[in-house]
Amino acid sequence: MKSPPTPASTRRSFIGRIAGGAAALASLTRGRAQPAPRKLGIALAGLGGYATGQLAPALKLTQHVELRGVITGSPDKGRQWAKEFGFPEDYIYHYDKMSRLAENRDIDIVYVVTPNALHLAHASAAAWAGKHVICEKPLALTVSECDAMLAACRANRVKLSVGYRLQFEPHYDELKRLARDGDFGRLAKMSGGLSFKMTRPQWRAERKLAGGGPLMDLGIYAVQAACMAAGGVAPIAITARELPKQRPEFFRDVEETIEWTMEFARGERGDFSTSYNQGLDRFRAEGDQGWIEIAPAFQYGGLKAVTSRGPFTPAVPPSQQAVQIDDFARCIREDRESPVSGAMGRRDMVIIEAIYASAAQGGKRIEIKT
Ligand code: NAD
Repeated sequence: MKSPPTPASTRRSFIGRIAGGAAALASLTRGRAQPAPRKLGIALAGLGGYATGQLAPALKLTQHVELRGVITGSPDKGRQWAKEFGFPEDYIYHYDKMSRLAENRDIDIVYVVTPNALHLAHASAAAWAGKHVICEKPLALTVSECDAMLAACRANRVKLSVGYRLQFEPHYDELKRLARDGDFGRLAKMSGGLSFKMTRPQWRAERKLAGGGPLMDLGIYAVQAACMAAGGVAPIAITARELPKQRPEFFRDVEETIEWTMEFARGERGDFSTSYNQGLDRFRAEGDQGWIEIAPAFQYGGLKAVTSRGPFTPAVPPSQQAVQIDDFARCIREDRESPVSGAMGRRDMVIIEAIYASAAQGGKRIEIKT
């Protein structure tokens, strides 16, 4: 077997391919209608619930990306996916053999969909194989892990993006527009959160694999929405408290419920909560001239919004994830940073670490330096 190329040579051949391909295309199509550019190839790392239930259907709708490989611990599962999506069985990789992706010119992007504790290893392995990376949320377990992932992507000159699907959803486009245009004044008062009642044991309730409890998994959505409503900036301070556990035997080493407040530089303030032992799915932002409330706020579809002007009912795309993935393909083609960049994933981890730090210090106000 050929030895894998070094990251630098892979990158050179990748860039060479793009540049050579672009020149050939230009000479072929001069004076004619442009054919659609070649779709980029993506490989999913991790074939669990989210990959199967959401990303696989999305990848049948994407216009700029197609599924051309998988990284899995289960070769049988890999063969089923190869059959369904029509890629060669050679394009099934084991997690331990991700460096071999460097030899595969049909795969441009790796989408990391494994438990949180594995994000750093899998995203870095993809980057060192010269592949652009989409990594699921939360980006990693800690800010220093985020830094290591960003460094691996920088060293290999690949792009990094986070699976923040709601940043591409029309209700949140409206939230961002309201923050920008100020129809309701400054959205100074925010509230809400995401919670569900966990009944079956899973890695999400194990610190080793999840890094924390519902804050890492669900609370991050409210963190994202609050930053959008504040105009795309990070908060300046956090206060938080963890609530006593109702089921301590189930949530042995992660929080069950946590509440926190985010303060922003212009005076906006948000009070949020997240839990694995309650039901909640809502985001509200209020200015002195009106308000918007989205509930359900964080699902894959069926979001509903009401504003002080009446219901807001935008046309929604069939798959949030298809829009998100296609946007990343355009970022690669146009060589620009994703609007849901690794830096944004890191920003959110700074906020999450501050929430945990405040709760651990009995609700002390923690200032955020980004
Ligand atoms: P899951 O448990 O259903 O799937 C995880 C996959 O990782 C499985 O295929 C499992 O076999 C594999 N895996 C590899 N090594 C493993 C190990 N050591 N231990 C356990 N599993 C291992 O989880 P999921 O719901 O698909 O979540 C995966 C990631 O996607 C998480 O980071 C989660 O936060 C994220 N996610 C994002 C969204 C979203 O809306 N953006 C929704 C759900 C999940």
